Amino acid sequence: MLSCDKERLQDKIFAFSKFGDTGKGGITRLCLSEPDLQARAEFCKRMKALGADIVTDDMANIYATIKGSEDLPRIAMGSHTDSVIQGGNYDGILGVLTAMEAVETIVTEKVPHRHPITVMIWTNEEGARFDPAMMSSGVITGKFDKTKMLTSKDKEGITFGEALDASGYKGDEKNRMNPQDYRAFVELHIEQGPVLEAEKMDIGVVEGVVGMVNYEFEFIGQAGHAGSVPQKMRQDALLAASEAIQYLHSKLDKLDGKLVYTTGRINCSPNVHTIIPAHVKFTLDSRHQDPEVIKQVVQIIENIPRELAKCKVSYKQLWSRNTVAFNRKMVDFVEKNAKEYGLSYKRMYSGPGHDAQYVSDMMPTSFIFVPSIGGHSHCEIEKTPFDACWKGANVLLQTILDIDKE
Ligand SMILES: [Zn+2]
Repeated sequence: MLSCDKERLQDKIFAFSKFGDTGKGGITRLCLSEPDLQARAEFCKRMKALGADIVTDDMANIYATIKGSEDLPRIAMGSHTDSVIQGGNYDGILGVLTAMEAVETIVTEKVPHRHPITVMIWTNEEGARFDPAMMSSGVITGKFDKTKMLTSKDKEGITFGEALDASGYKGDEKNRMNPQDYRAFVELHIEQGPVLEAEKMDIGVVEGVVGMVNYEFEFIGQAGHAGSVPQKMRQDALLAASEAIQYLHSKLDKLDGKLVYTTGRINCSPNVHTIIPAHVKFTLDSRHQDPEVIKQVVQIIENIPRELAKCKVSYKQLWSRNTVAFNRKMVDFVEKNAKEYGLSYKRMYSGPGHDAQYVSDMMPTSFIFVPSIGGHSHCEIEKTPFDACWKGANVLLQTILDIDKE
């Protein structure tokens, strides 16, 4: 079977790990920062050398396209080059590098293909510099209002619109990916979780992205001096919040074993060591592929006692997303190719969101996972062995060629 070049892929991973190198094994490559612009320039240089025609759209998404033998819509693949602060060398960028390697294989091996093939870079997937995440795929698929996105500010007060203008990558709106000019999209990504490694699987055949809800809980107590108010007379909002977390976990623990739930943010006011907490808020993020299970989660939330530790308890939904299912036929291509390369694989859902989930509203889309050592991601020790990256690149390559034959 046709294969990508493992050494060449490894070289790409090394080359791009320079852009934003923290010196501690990882990278900080925030969206449209200097290191991100360097990675983009290197991408364009390498794709041009392969004969690709490069355009950008009004959100600075980059599309590098090699011609097909027929006048047909394009088949696209790719991911993002931006990272979180002190992130790793695989999240996002591996989807770009494996797509580049697949095209390099097609070009150098002179593999016939009917459709033009496009390698993409999505702008601001992480949302680490400009909120929200998956910003530009969200804009071009109508999920987010562009005017609002342009005013999103980073820590220095620079707006996304200003960064876009200064980047040199702002192109024409008419270049946006669209269902007429594009036939399909495939994204390869690291799992960012421990399942594939633990089960000794080479490939995750991703069927969709799990639905989620995100709630914020609020607790109103009474501030007081830590030395003078007797315990029995206190309304300690942090104590109430901790009882609520215990309450929620004890109920959620009983639901389906695939359900995940996280309290990742907590705010305590006045947050002074000599004052009884008066006001506490925390978030609860919960994800599962089955909407029925998410309904059960919402029921548990709605049944939380309105008073805990003598404090008033309330909650509100911050946001939610429905489960996204990728195109069945395209998912089957991924599975077939994992099999044909003699790889072990598992059908699964993605917990994290990815650009592909928005694109799937627009055109047939599928998604390939490769393992993350220890499940580590969004940190400097994030790692996928080169051999595993190469296996994923082969499945990506063959999936694109299968779609081409359709
Ligand atoms: Zn990513």
